[in-house]
Amino acid sequence: MCDNTVNPDNNTPKGLNFVEEEVYNDLQAGKNGGRLNTRFPPEPNGYLHIGHAKAICMDFGVAEKFGGTCNLRFDDTNPVKEDVEYVDAIREDIHWLGFDWGDREYYASDYFPQLFELAVRLIKEGKAYVDDQTSEEIAAQKGTPTQPGIESPYRSRTPEENLDLFLRMNAGEFEEGSRVLRAKIDMASDNMHFRDPIMYRIIKTPHHRTGTTWKVYPMYDFAHGQSDYFEGVTHSICTLEFVPHRPLYNYFVDELADETYRPRQIEFNRLNLTYTVMSKRKLLTLVKEGLVAGWDDPRMPTISGMRRRGFTPASIRKFIDTIGYTRYEALNSVSLLEHAVRDDLNRIATRVMAVLNPLKVTIVNYPEDKEETVTMENNPEDPESGVHEMPFSREIFIERDDFMENPPKKFFRLAPGAEVRLKGAYIIKCEDIVKDADGNITELLCTYDPDTLSGMPGAARKVKGTLHWVSARHAKDAEVRLYDRLFDVENPAAEPDRDFREMLNPDSLRVVEHAKVEPFVVENATPGTKFQFQRVGYFTPDTDSTPETPVFNRTIALKDTWEKVQKNG
Ligand code: ATP
Ligand code: MG
Repeated sequence: MCDNTVNPDNNTPKGLNFVEEEVYNDLQAGKNGGRLNTRFPPEPNGYLHIGHAKAICMDFGVAEKFGGTCNLRFDDTNPVKEDVEYVDAIREDIHWLGFDWGDREYYASDYFPQLFELAVRLIKEGKAYVDDQTSEEIAAQKGTPTQPGIESPYRSRTPEENLDLFLRMNAGEFEEGSRVLRAKIDMASDNMHFRDPIMYRIIKTPHHRTGTTWKVYPMYDFAHGQSDYFEGVTHSICTLEFVPHRPLYNYFVDELADETYRPRQIEFNRLNLTYTVMSKRKLLTLVKEGLVAGWDDPRMPTISGMRRRGFTPASIRKFIDTIGYTRYEALNSVSLLEHAVRDDLNRIATRVMAVLNPLKVTIVNYPEDKEETVTMENNPEDPESGVHEMPFSREIFIERDDFMENPPKKFFRLAPGAEVRLKGAYIIKCEDIVKDADGNITELLCTYDPDTLSGMPGAARKVKGTLHWVSARHAKDAEVRLYDRLFDVENPAAEPDRDFREMLNPDSLRVVEHAKVEPFVVENATPGTKFQFQRVGYFTPDTDSTPETPVFNRTIALKDTWEKVQKNG
């Protein structure tokens, strides 16, 4: 075991959240011999989402802060829903977020023998019994918070009979659902979780690690605290819905712990995000029914989806830091996350030119076969980032929206007779419009002022508008995927009467098949590269991208247009 003892000092550090304060106080008090060991306990029944990232930042973060360690423990107690695909994805996502568990990778299934042994002991001591009722019957006897439950007719079985039945349950003699092992605590307890909670149920599906060794599997409440104990965890940090479970956590831990060491559960508020759902069950439904392209669909609130979309670990961590940890539930605005993403991408993204909806412009006074290169700054926010060259020629593409035949006042882009600067290149003037038989604009005829390139006498000449552009001859075709919120309802989870699938935003994905990008973009489209398509947004190559068919995801637009739309109705 590595040394995770913390040296106590007498000055409480400033700026701690309430969980960190609790941990700090325990360390100060010398609890558990001054050891700090947390754990992150995902169930491998789905991919991690941004809510899990909040738990990860807490579990690993507090350990880092006070020189402790954090275990990764897969809570693999239900073989029906779990899969190694999820185990691998979870590992990758935690690493990507920037955390490492070293060699401390554990599985609840590692403790099945010890848990079984404890169950046998509790049976022998008259603290657990086998119930032959169905789960429906058991649920019906639970009572309500104000009404005591009803004792099971099997509650007074002898330890011998209980032990015999439990061993036979595990030998596979009985059908799934025909019997459970329950703790014999108090059917009248104020805490519903104390009303003879189920400890074990029969499951015959093979387990991804233990195969067919076990036919009985522990319930969360019988596995979690004890697993913490077996592993040496000192602080078991989880979300608020486990507050009512805490007495039961302590009840089972009491069967094992002594005064020298005992794990302690502390709870904080879940992360809930607007315009999405966080339930793994719902996310799995979206995947299974093909309503998204997979767990890593860039619209998903999963870590893998956000990675594919182009979010950075730094921005996710910054966002989680901003919302903080409290003792009450709240709904967090996705705009805050997007703000953190923009902030980070603004610092690191390479500025390039791409035209999503191209309109051809011919510069009639520019020689037919002439080519020049202009120099573009890679990132004005980063003096180290350098420059790259971009080709210029007689035919270019500009954004269709950047031209209006009959512009309103204050339209500072291109219009008949108007002048604009082509970003990093010349000033051009629109002389004429070419239309097809249906009256659609197919081309603009412009002239350029040859004196206005950087370094020339007219370089400083000011015009109101600056447009992005690409050279038609040199531009590469690319597919561009534009994402919007996955749901068009702010809090889908708060609409219990509606099927969540009905609240999906039908326009959450828009595909632009033939965008035009400068060659540099395609040449540098390695996975994970962050671009700012100037005036358009932040983009990253999608995992579907190939050199022949480049595909880019829009991570986020440059500005939060959504907020404006909302405000203006
Ligand atoms: P399940 O319904 O499958 O239990 P879960 O989201 O609780 O789903 P787990 O794999 O059990 O998934 O979660 C692992 C850890 O992540 C737990 O400690 C849990 O408290 C925490 N966690 C899960 N969802 C959130 C969330 N939205 N915000 C913060 N922490 C979360
Ligand atoms: Mg859970």
